[in-house]
Amino acid sequence: MKLFLFSLLLLINLPLYAETNSEVDISITKSRDNTWTLIYQMSRPANRLAFVRNPDNSRIERWKPVSSDFEIIFEEGKEYLNKKDGSSFQHVELMLTPTYKHLSKDYAPFSPYSDGGVLIYTGRLFACIDKCADDVNDWKVSMNIPQGEHLIVNGNVYTKSTNWVDRDDGMNIYIGRQKPIETASVIAVIDSGLPEEIQLSLSADIPKLMVYFQERLGKLSGVKPTLFASYAKVEDRSSQGGTLPNQIFMHWNLNDLDKKVKDTKFINQTTWFFAHEVAHLYQRSTLGVLYGESNQSWLHEGNADWLAALALLDLYPKTEEYITEKVGRFKEHCVEGLTELSLMEAADKGQFGLYYTCGLLIHRAIDYSVQKKSNGLKNIYSLWNEFRQKVEQGNEKGSETFLSLVEQYTSKELVIRIKKLVETKLSSPEDTLNRLIIDK
Ligand SMILES: [Zn+2]
Repeated sequence: MKLFLFSLLLLINLPLYAETNSEVDISITKSRDNTWTLIYQMSRPANRLAFVRNPDNSRIERWKPVSSDFEIIFEEGKEYLNKKDGSSFQHVELMLTPTYKHLSKDYAPFSPYSDGGVLIYTGRLFACIDKCADDVNDWKVSMNIPQGEHLIVNGNVYTKSTNWVDRDDGMNIYIGRQKPIETASVIAVIDSGLPEEIQLSLSADIPKLMVYFQERLGKLSGVKPTLFASYAKVEDRSSQGGTLPNQIFMHWNLNDLDKKVKDTKFINQTTWFFAHEVAHLYQRSTLGVLYGESNQSWLHEGNADWLAALALLDLYPKTEEYITEKVGRFKEHCVEGLTELSLMEAADKGQFGLYYTCGLLIHRAIDYSVQKKSNGLKNIYSLWNEFRQKVEQGNEKGSETFLSLVEQYTSKELVIRIKKLVETKLSSPEDTLNRLIIDK
């Protein structure tokens, strides 16, 4: 019955498709034998295709042009698809590799489920004629699936091939046979191959965390989010989570999850991972994300980690020791990292982890200072809610607006210290970090 309702909803969502000015149309076909074909059809000839997202050069390995006339090249940090003879083209076909690939600072292109289903990330496919500019932000996407499988797009189930207009950061689309389960807080597609402990935790802890953050950061706007949790039992040690508007997703790419779930530390880590991702859902505004460039990621990653710590301490008091130890390790990691570079440089120098560790310490310091100055009446949530409001009122997203509020809520002195920590290479990061928390 749900399936039918979902399909009806969809008809209302789609009329934009015909009117959209899409320069590059994207068509994906999954065949029964799990080959994935990607076709780009351009509205005018292109000398080359550029991509919106360029986390690395792995398209060269993972995307194979069907015709040997084409190639993918990597130039000045970006990938391009062109014809070897340099002539222009309006149509090109490629075969994709539908396996998990960890992309630093970006979403995985594919997250396989253990029953053969898969999530595909559409932002990875966004391409532009010659080069990508900010005003190119509409792609007509069509997906073709084998009979007996379905698509889940934006919380809706489609049993046939479907098309829509995609934009901004794109989204994750499920293709497979698993039916989503709708609960009070999420629509869930949880891999039935995941160990029972994780499945239980996903269906109990995620809703609990959502209620927790909703009470502090307000209700989510828009449709009910979809939770995707996938598991590929392969020789690897990777797990990744992320959020996009109305989506939260987690993937485990390892082969000893059954053993791991017996370890309390792993369970605590998993709950932390869930809390971090759920917190991201509540960091958004009606205008999209609140954070700025990738070198400012201490803002949202640090905040999500600090909120994860707060949520775990409140909802699962037994995690206190784990958290104290974790914060200690974060401090060591941050001190060590900042002796080599400034926090601003971390994104470009492959030290993205510092945005989590140093970021948590910055947000903890802000939270304590806000509470102290307001005699406990305000905290990090009050600050974040006002930050969201400011951005919705037209202030610039990112750390400048955030820090100007921090100054109002705490002191100029704290903001000077935070800026010093973010922008300069410190002679003694440990002293600077210790001085962040004033009189605490
Ligand atoms: Zn995050």
